[in-house]
Amino acid sequence: MKKHNIFLKVLFIFIMLLFVNYSFSNKYNLERVEPPFWWVGMQDKNLQLLVYGKNISETQPQIDYKGVILKKVIKAENPNYLFLNLEITADAVAGSFRINFVKEKKVFQTYKYELKNRKAGSKERKGFNSSDVIYLMMPDRFSNGDASNDNIQEMKEKADRSIPNGRHGGDLQGIKNKLDYLADLGITAIWINPVFENNMPAYSYHGYAITDFYKIDPRFGTNNDYVELVEDSHKKGIKIIMDMIFNHCGSGHWWMSDLPSQDWLNQWDKFTRTNYRAGVTTDPYASDYDNAKLLSGWFDITMADMNQNNELLANYLTQNSIWWIEYAGLDGIRMDTYPYSYKDFMADWMKRILQEYPDFNVVGESWLPVASSVAYWQENTKNPDGYQSNLTNVFDFPMMYAMGEAFVEKDSWDKGIVKIYDILGQDFVYANPNKLVIFADNHDGDRFFTKINENLDDFKLAMAFLLTSRGIPEIYYGTEILMTGHENRGHGDIRKDFPGGWQGDTTDAFTAEGRTKQQNEAFDYLKKLLIWRKNNEIIHTGKLKHFIPENGVYVYFRYNKNESVMVLLNNSDKEQEIKTDRFAECLKGFNSGKGIISGKEINDLSIIKIPAKTAKIIELGK
Ligand code: CA
Repeated sequence: MKKHNIFLKVLFIFIMLLFVNYSFSNKYNLERVEPPFWWVGMQDKNLQLLVYGKNISETQPQIDYKGVILKKVIKAENPNYLFLNLEITADAVAGSFRINFVKEKKVFQTYKYELKNRKAGSKERKGFNSSDVIYLMMPDRFSNGDASNDNIQEMKEKADRSIPNGRHGGDLQGIKNKLDYLADLGITAIWINPVFENNMPAYSYHGYAITDFYKIDPRFGTNNDYVELVEDSHKKGIKIIMDMIFNHCGSGHWWMSDLPSQDWLNQWDKFTRTNYRAGVTTDPYASDYDNAKLLSGWFDITMADMNQNNELLANYLTQNSIWWIEYAGLDGIRMDTYPYSYKDFMADWMKRILQEYPDFNVVGESWLPVASSVAYWQENTKNPDGYQSNLTNVFDFPMMYAMGEAFVEKDSWDKGIVKIYDILGQDFVYANPNKLVIFADNHDGDRFFTKINENLDDFKLAMAFLLTSRGIPEIYYGTEILMTGHENRGHGDIRKDFPGGWQGDTTDAFTAEGRTKQQNEAFDYLKKLLIWRKNNEIIHTGKLKHFIPENGVYVYFRYNKNESVMVLLNNSDKEQEIKTDRFAECLKGFNSGKGIISGKEINDLSIIKIPAKTAKIIELGK
């Protein structure tokens, strides 16, 4: 009887303990620790972890690992968050340790945190530069290498190629499959539009409504697939530039239903859209009203404006970008909507990036119509308000606009090719014009071939210019096969599927056989220039000297101490004989040349005949 009693008592206590444990573990439910892991040997010894879980702030985190000091525990407005300030000292070695979440001496939740060793040369990595040509691609629209990930149960939007703004199924495997194609074309870097999870009900293909900053969208692949893509690209001499967005997150982001604090986002009484006027920041007459809307208005109902003046969010974003550089081995970042975020935060962020990776590059989307406005955002510019952005690279939007007009207009005093000449003349405002990313089009506007009324001669002229001017050229995917698209017909029209990227496509433009005669002519022309440019240091780093266009013919030279390349662009409708005495200062010491496009030797430089609407690129010889 007695024994039986004891057994019952023990059983009762055991059941009670189980219950208490269950109710506590139910009460404290750890869901996320971000960044999910980190590295030893970083320049900045500080690491701030975001911890998310039901009532987690009621527990006390504890860490016992040599070289890791838990310096501070920060509680947010929301009891479901904790922020842990750690110091990773020089003594720390790579390994795993437990972060225990304790209440009343009992461990209720544990996260196994890992500190990894950095890869050799991680700090010294070189970014992209003017020796590169960047290929911009929208991953959903380039190539579908894995049809099994087109539809994922947990992901709200399913694939449907019949919808121009729907998901089409392109993915990382598709890009991997086409690396040889890109290397063969002469591409040395790829800017891939955002690949983070975008678990939004519609329009999720473009990637600009991020719902998880630490996760590749499963419809593109896994985090590991992304790392492998970077590694495979590097083996083929191709750099990877990751597209990031700090200004906004998707309205379906996991934190939207349970924000750490109300000021995590810029909140308005009723939905307020940004004015999209990026020039407000530099406008000396700008109103507070316009400034507030630019910086704090939402990009869209589906894109919530993040408040980077919240230091915890600022840290979160900064560490997220460093995590991806280190984890994936990135060569560069393209930062979206640069002037829409708080500029002091952006300057601090860039400083942190360069502290960790001194030779890294970030190109900011500085979508502004004039050079002075763009220059404001580039590092080392002497701005009247003293602002130092620390941003290494900016996009040359003024040149994009000029290129769209220069080759279709009839040349006159202020029309035609002179527009390009005029834009270059404003380069004095840039601290480093050679760090401008130059482009004829991108994923947000009319395709270039459409802008120039599908004229192949104009296309060739423009590409000859793009690949011989100063700066870092960017080519939008499909340019090489003359893809067309009108922005006013919807973004789906300028982001069409690359033909041949999907099984069952009727044509495969990745192969010469699958391209039309005209497409092959464009492809071969571009390839010839790209391969030549790739190994031509004068184009990468040489000086530029140009001459006022005459009769629609624009002549310039790229040169260094010993070598020179002469470029002639005849934008007019008639063949012209160019007397070269006007260029004597650049031709001095040279008496012959080799035409890069024609392949022909030139023995007399005194008069150069150039047919209508053509480019000549001449490597000068002595
Ligand atoms: Ca797919």
